[in-house]
Amino acid sequence: MGDTAPPHTGVWAGLVGQQDTIATLQRAVAGHGMTHAWLFTGPPGSGRSNAAIAFAAALQCERGFGCGDCHACRTTLAGSHPDVSITRSETSMLYIKDMRDLVHRSALAPVERRHQVMIIEDADRLGDAVGRTGNTLLKAIEEPTPKTVWLLCAPTTEDVLPTIRSRCRSVSLATPSPEQVARFLVERQGVSESVAAFAARASQGHIGRAKALASDEKFRSRRREVVALPQGLTSLGACLNAAANLVDIAKDETAVLTERSNARDVKDLEALYGDDRRSKASRAYRASLRELQHSQKQREKRRVMDVIDRSLMDIMSVYRDAIVLQTGASGGLVNEEVRGMVADMARRSTPEDNIRRIDAVFAAREQMMEFNTTPLLALEAMMVALRTP
Ligand SMILES: [Zn+2]
Repeated sequence: MGDTAPPHTGVWAGLVGQQDTIATLQRAVAGHGMTHAWLFTGPPGSGRSNAAIAFAAALQCERGFGCGDCHACRTTLAGSHPDVSITRSETSMLYIKDMRDLVHRSALAPVERRHQVMIIEDADRLGDAVGRTGNTLLKAIEEPTPKTVWLLCAPTTEDVLPTIRSRCRSVSLATPSPEQVARFLVERQGVSESVAAFAARASQGHIGRAKALASDEKFRSRRREVVALPQGLTSLGACLNAAANLVDIAKDETAVLTERSNARDVKDLEALYGDDRRSKASRAYRASLRELQHSQKQREKRRVMDVIDRSLMDIMSVYRDAIVLQTGASGGLVNEEVRGMVADMARRSTPEDNIRRIDAVFAAREQMMEFNTTPLLALEAMMVALRTP
């Protein structure tokens, strides 16, 4: 097979702080340890789907190593290679139908000579699909046609059905260091050193978040608002207000995106039914529309939760910084730009107070994620627990 490229060039250039993973994947592309099913795991924002896409490009590369320049590399990275399909549950409401299509497609010979690559970005959400597609999906992953490669992505291996993960070779992505993220932003995004340093610290290893903070003042100003919240929690009224604010910010931020994708979904559905739907008696159409509306609501909820979750990480970082100052721990502050505010908070609390507050933030996340408490209720309880006397 082809040469190996140095890391950080070609299709690998977009991966930040993942030298070990890149080395493993490059060896596989060169024919050592290649297998037909892979599971990419890593914390949110570590770039698991980017890694899967880079790997797919390298597998399809005309020069055999992921040069980044050939037609196969470029179309794979752009999402338009005929033998690479990417499934995201986020953008595709017809997930179950997609899975069936995917299984059929995985059995096809590639259009070009190399591989048929099937990428599933949210393999942690496959449970339902496996339930409804029966064994076909499992079988397709277990015994794919010779040229088919499955690349699944999930936060951790535990998030994936054991029957699926046992069929995969796993690679786990690391959380990149602030230095690695900053260097990436300067070199690849053309961001100034100071903005890059801020975005790298504030994003705490989340690449997508780092890019957003580095490139968009709107995100920076929202983060400033959120980071300023803890110091204002001095009365019950302020706590309740802060909770409502956080929910509003999240709804605002997702509204445009949601409207756009909801409209696109309905169009897709109408295209799928064509003239059939004209007879409003079409029961199948109405049933699909109901199912669509249900999954749109789920998606909206999930997006709002993602934004809230990010805000909670930002709030936690303030207490974390206060503890750093209180204990004289080495290592910089995440919120270096508001050191004065953090120092003030550190003076007016003990490390134990701040540990308790961090616990309260985790508890609120758990309430929302595991027990389906509405965000407003969970956040109100949290803000009250964060209150400074
Ligand atoms: Zn190439």
